[in-house]
Amino acid sequence: MGILQMPDALANKIAAGEVVERPASVVKELIENSIDAHSSWIRVEVEEAGLQKIKVTDNGDGMPEADAEKAFLRHATSKIKHETDLFRVNTLGFRGEALASIAAVSRLTVKTSQGDGAATYLSIEGGVVTDRSKSDARQGTEIVVADLFFNTPARLKYMKTIHTELGHITDLLNRLALSHPKIRFEAIHNGKPLFTTAGTGDLLQVVSQVYGMNVARKMIPVKHDTLDFSIEGYIAKPEVTRASRNYISTMINGRYIKSQQLSQAIMRGYHTLLPVGRSPIVVLAIDMDPVLVDVNVHPTKLEVRFSKDRELFSAIEETIRAAFRNTSLIPEMEQKQ
Ligand code: ADP
Ligand code: MG
Repeated sequence: MGILQMPDALANKIAAGEVVERPASVVKELIENSIDAHSSWIRVEVEEAGLQKIKVTDNGDGMPEADAEKAFLRHATSKIKHETDLFRVNTLGFRGEALASIAAVSRLTVKTSQGDGAATYLSIEGGVVTDRSKSDARQGTEIVVADLFFNTPARLKYMKTIHTELGHITDLLNRLALSHPKIRFEAIHNGKPLFTTAGTGDLLQVVSQVYGMNVARKMIPVKHDTLDFSIEGYIAKPEVTRASRNYISTMINGRYIKSQQLSQAIMRGYHTLLPVGRSPIVVLAIDMDPVLVDVNVHPTKLEVRFSKDRELFSAIEETIRAAFRNTSLIPEMEQKQ
């Protein structure tokens, strides 16, 4: 029996299964890279829920020619240099596998420039570079991912309807915009704008741009600091609820994460105020020492582990309870009578 080491393109294709589950995963990884590159403006254009095309343009740092191709190698990252960095991650990415994975299962082009007049263009098909040239570009990076899963038919077949995939993308875009109020986001699907945020840093304004004015009007600001945590954001009055928990957004140190337990702590904060089977609209930014949170639990980094979990959950519950103790919950209509 002979053992052979796989060619990189094949290894990347296999690993891609973990990072790139669906078009929304590509959108997430590309935008997070743009955020890590200090962009103040990010445009996302998606066609056919990303199955046809996903284009992300930013005005961030860009990459020098020597790095542009390296960025597509597995475990290639500019964000972690020493092992100890892993315990103090302050960028959204650090595993260095997103671009390699995405490029392995799509037809991808990248244009990038550091704004010094030089710009690099690369075209990659199924993980293999097919074209490289100099390009003209302003500062920033533009990545176009076309024909996602063209070379992984089993995965392609698993894709749900355009409607479902687009749902995952809008859900994600909403939360990324909500977790970065200082960045101006433009989101477009099949040529039609989904939303645009102003990038002024005003979270309530983002809530209004993403969820609409009527929701924003019903939000109560919350703020609560403990020794370990700083919790800040907006929670909707119990009169506005949703059928799904997708409208609960929790950010840990600027990273949007999914946590059943955090959502449950929020729901406990609402106590009996929520109608049965309904969920609130909540946007909470929670900051803590990075040492207290392990983001390296899963390749998508959506799940995290907290070292002081019980303290955190009770702080969140208390933040919400306190807000309701100080706010009149009588709906405005009735107040006027
Ligand atoms: P990670 O984000 O975990 O480092 P990625 O595969 O997502 O890994 O990206 C690899 C590297 O490519 C990054 O570390 C970064 O240096 C560079 N890069 C990716 N996207 C951008 C971008 N939009 N602007 C500037 N640099 C980028
Ligand atoms: Mg990344």
